[in-house]
Amino acid sequence: MSGRILIVDTVATNRIVLKVKMLSAQFSVDACSSRIEAEAIIATNRPDLILVNLSDPAEDRHDFCKTLKSEPETASIAVIAVGVADTSRARFAALDAGADDVLPRPMNDTLLLARIRSLLRVRSASQELVLRDSTSRALGFEEAGAQFETAAHVAFLSPEGASRHDLVRMLSEGLRQPVRELETTGVLKQTAVTPVPDLFVVDGTDTGTSPNALFGLVSDLRSRSETRLSTQLIVVPHGQPELAAMFLDLGADDVVTCGTSKGEITLRAKALIRRKLLHDRLRDTVRNGLHAAVTDPLTGLYNRRYVEPHLARMATQSRNAGRELAVMMLDIDHFKSINDTYGHAAGDKVLVQLADRLRENLRAIDLVARIGGEEFLVAMPRTTSAQARGAADRLRRLVNCRPFDLGEVCPQLRVTVSVGVAVSGFGGMEQRNLGQMCDQADAALYAAKSAGRDQVAMSKSAA
Ligand code: GH3
Ligand code: MG
Ligand code: MG
Repeated sequence: MSGRILIVDTVATNRIVLKVKMLSAQFSVDACSSRIEAEAIIATNRPDLILVNLSDPAEDRHDFCKTLKSEPETASIAVIAVGVADTSRARFAALDAGADDVLPRPMNDTLLLARIRSLLRVRSASQELVLRDSTSRALGFEEAGAQFETAAHVAFLSPEGASRHDLVRMLSEGLRQPVRELETTGVLKQTAVTPVPDLFVVDGTDTGTSPNALFGLVSDLRSRSETRLSTQLIVVPHGQPELAAMFLDLGADDVVTCGTSKGEITLRAKALIRRKLLHDRLRDTVRNGLHAAVTDPLTGLYNRRYVEPHLARMATQSRNAGRELAVMMLDIDHFKSINDTYGHAAGDKVLVQLADRLRENLRAIDLVARIGGEEFLVAMPRTTSAQARGAADRLRRLVNCRPFDLGEVCPQLRVTVSVGVAVSGFGGMEQRNLGQMCDQADAALYAAKSAGRDQVAMSKSAA
């Protein structure tokens, strides 16, 4: 796995030993002894992860961690505190200062590497989400909502008949929220766990359960579509670092040993929940941003930006299926005079009501989009020329058969549309001819307008 690691430790031999381990695991490594040097390296050589010796007496390394995590530019760098005394107090203090994990000396190499891999995996997922989020925002879509504490769903998984009420109570008191108890076998058999937990805490301490069954559970939760985004915290027996490393490599987000203090387990659980909710929020912003990018806010129809790639896919599918594809251009007749007579807001109402009529009267596989002020495009796959003419005329009559309701200004306005239709030849068209086909539909629309409006014209090649 690639990644850049910074080692901060005043003791030269510690630095050298760690550096050799990191280099042999194929990481790029920088090492330094002081906070000042570390800050200079961070500014120029941006590490993905920092291994910092928190027991260094010379400097206030807790403050260093706190500062890293509070600055937006460095907050996403993963931090593992090393060299800490193996006491719950020291571990809690390190996590509280912002370290993502604590590995007291002597360190187990397998566990250290598994921790690093796990943290780097999460970091690259976070970076991608942040990048996509900032792209959406740079494009002018939806601001990310304010951060607020949302209630999370937490589930505790234990083997049948081995429930750990002590741990469940501890978690629920620490997190100040209910924790659902589920049986491991039930979760494995069940197709859906609802509501989907944001955090699964898995009891891996039961001696009656084989580690393989638990490994299966962790990777199963990670691979199922509904639970793959949930975070996982595994409680492992004391003194089994290889087991802990295996869980991390299979996709668990964090491991704690049995007997971990309430304070520490709560901090770790809270950090996972916070990260999960942040990722959910970023994903939503991106999804909403993408939706906003391809839809017209007035009518809710797809916009021009969406049409081009979607139409290209429709064309390819039609060609592969050896079927025709019909494209129609619809334009409201004398729309300018509707605006001039009743006002722009009334014109908007016509657009909205017309969009509704189109949407409700087309098949799910058809595409309807607003491609200009009062111009709409409809694309219908698997549609012959005769069927396209019939459909276009149906849409035209759908508009002129029933007046539009503009409220007080005009409760019954008669509106008409003209439609131009082009249909690809049998066997579908080449993608490069798609533009040509839209031009043909446009030309047919122009002919319909010239012939008196409120009518359908077929492109010559489609007639
Ligand atoms: P024709 O029958 O030849 O199509 O005439 P027309 O008046 O419909 O066409 P023209 O292109 O002259 O005018 C289109 C009008 O549509 C002009 C523009 O102000 C109006 N328009 C464009 N977008 C919007 C919109 O979002 N809302 C409203 N209310 N009007 C719009
Ligand atoms: Mg027009
Ligand atoms: Mg018009």
